[in-house]
Amino acid sequence: METRIERVKKQLHSSSYKLTPQREATVRVLLEHEEDHLSAEDVYLLVKEKSPEIGLATVYRTLELLTELKIVDKINFGDGVSRYDLRTEGADHFHHHLVCIECGTVDEIQKDLLEDVEDVVEKEWNFKIKDHRLTFHGVCHRCQQKQLQESK
Ligand SMILES: [Zn+2]
Ligand SMILES: [Zn+2]
Ligand SMILES: [Zn+2]
Repeated sequence: METRIERVKKQLHSSSYKLTPQREATVRVLLEHEEDHLSAEDVYLLVKEKSPEIGLATVYRTLELLTELKIVDKINFGDGVSRYDLRTEGADHFHHHLVCIECGTVDEIQKDLLEDVEDVVEKEWNFKIKDHRLTFHGVCHRCQQKQLQESK
């Protein structure tokens, strides 16, 4: 955790930004909820628990800054809510998501898996790929298990 904070601090510094206490509080919440996909509102409520003096606008601006610096990615799963997701360290491309249409759980795939597809696109469309968003919609293994038990 502390080393991650240090690295974020360096990333901010290299773009001439400071890791202010407000920014640090926001980054900590994102790190503590790395598996989750929090909206600005969610992040704000969690930041407020430890730093009640921070306002929503500050949290929002921090999230936008972190997005700009590619420390987090903004993602939308089709419900009209922007969510903030920490980028996997050292990954060139954004990770993939599995959204369960039954329970709404979002799981992540950290492997890129798209190398072959990227190759075809780059060659056939002469397009230089910088990143991608891939969301699968389906039924998660937990819901499949539940449905199986209920049908017995
Ligand atoms: Zn994610
Ligand atoms: Zn990729
Ligand atoms: Zn499910």
